[in-house]
Amino acid sequence: MYDLCVVGAGMIGSAAARHASLQPNIRVCLVGPEEPKERSMDSPREIFASHYDESRITRRSDPDPIWATLGQKAMDRYRDLEATSGLNFYSETGCMMAGPPAGQFMTKTQETVTSQNIQHDYLTPKLLRQRFPYMNLPDTDGAIYETKNAGYINPRVLIAAQEQIARDNGCVVINDVVYEITQQDDNGASLMSVLTEGGQKIEARRVLIATGSFTNFRNLLPPGQEPDLMLVPLAVAKVEVSVEDAKRLRDMPSMIYKGEGNTNWPEDYPRYPNKLYGIYLLPPIKYPDGKFYIKCGYLHGTESRRLSTVAEVKAWFCTEGVTPLVTKSADLVTAVTKDIKPLSYHGDHCIVTETPTHRIYIDLVHPDLGVAIGGNGYAAKSSDEIGRIAAMLVLYGKWDSELPAETFKLKLKDTSKNNL
Ligand SMILES: Cc1cc2nc3c(=O)[nH]c(=O)nc-3n(C[C@H](O)[C@H](O)[C@H](O)COP(=O)(O)OP(=O)(O)OC[C@H]3O[C@@H](n4cnc5c(N)ncnc54)[C@H](O)[C@@H]3O)c2cc1C
Repeated sequence: MYDLCVVGAGMIGSAAARHASLQPNIRVCLVGPEEPKERSMDSPREIFASHYDESRITRRSDPDPIWATLGQKAMDRYRDLEATSGLNFYSETGCMMAGPPAGQFMTKTQETVTSQNIQHDYLTPKLLRQRFPYMNLPDTDGAIYETKNAGYINPRVLIAAQEQIARDNGCVVINDVVYEITQQDDNGASLMSVLTEGGQKIEARRVLIATGSFTNFRNLLPPGQEPDLMLVPLAVAKVEVSVEDAKRLRDMPSMIYKGEGNTNWPEDYPRYPNKLYGIYLLPPIKYPDGKFYIKCGYLHGTESRRLSTVAEVKAWFCTEGVTPLVTKSADLVTAVTKDIKPLSYHGDHCIVTETPTHRIYIDLVHPDLGVAIGGNGYAAKSSDEIGRIAAMLVLYGKWDSELPAETFKLKLKDTSKNNL
């Protein structure tokens, strides 16, 4: 019998398992499938994850002070995590939030960096062009540039680091998919029963669900309770550049951009309803195949489609080859980064889990069952803090954060409409 079973061995689940495993006299297990070697419609596998990649942007700033705080708390522990695990996942290349200086994105981010005292350089449009002559942004755009304490993380390696430390502290990691969680009576006490597709029955006093986009595709919450989550399909392009180009762009930071874009940017790219672009770009990163890639994609607010069934989600994760969206993202890389000579490009498909509150749910369904779901596209960098808060909440029933618990309340779907 475990004290805590964490379901979902992704970014948040692995962090929660580590934090729980550091508590005295707590037996923890972490259950979730490993990344598949390949994704195929021919395989019976239905459960994937939003972290199958080598990079996620990390930064202390955000237009939303809540997300900014979660990020900072998590980032403060990156170097310790690296030292304890011996695994390096954090590259401090800096991060730039760019766009029209008077636009909402920039003014809100400026408010946060000021009120939270986040170290940054403010780049006026002129300074931005001087500092990054190879970036093709509109002449009137500026940037909030975190030169230090920001950049990108490798999500696969961060998870490996979390799991390794958790294991070293006694956590049992089980490579399996959970299909049902129920609460049972154990001589007057509550017992949580976790059944896996591989035929295991795990018993625990408490369970934390950290299953991201896949939460509603198995019987994880009590019958009739379905978290209000919207699944946004995203495509990204990875554009291969030469070693010379990678060297030339060696000071390139991660970038998030919201604005009108430049005249040579692809016109029919996903955009916000007000026609603004919302994109992100990562500097050249060496991938496991030894090649350097610049990664680019659109922010989830620019995509209007929502997926609802497990079949749709599987089909999206298993989409192969170069789709029109991938090609447009690759075109954007060459439009934004001047004079690079792309050698090749390929694409990938992933899902962002949105909530109507735009914040992650960290909450208790009942005293022995908690959730930490709904990353809204921001949870990779903040996963260590989200996992910590969730683990403390489920283990001890206590909210252990200066941020208000109200902000993270679980919202359920109104399923009564389905029964009409
Ligand atoms: C294209 C793209 C770019 C992104 N860029 C950034 C970025 O730059 N910065 C940033 O901070 N965030 C970014 N994100 C968001 C970030 O990746 C997610 O917020 C984060 O991965 C969410 O963590 P999670 O633990 O909730 O979900 P996941 O990382 O997906 O983990 C959930 C885990 O639960 C497992 N699981 C699901 N169902 C079950 C089940 N029934 N039984 C057992 N296990 C189960 C899954 O296999 C998975 O391993 C991006 C997302 C995408 C798609």
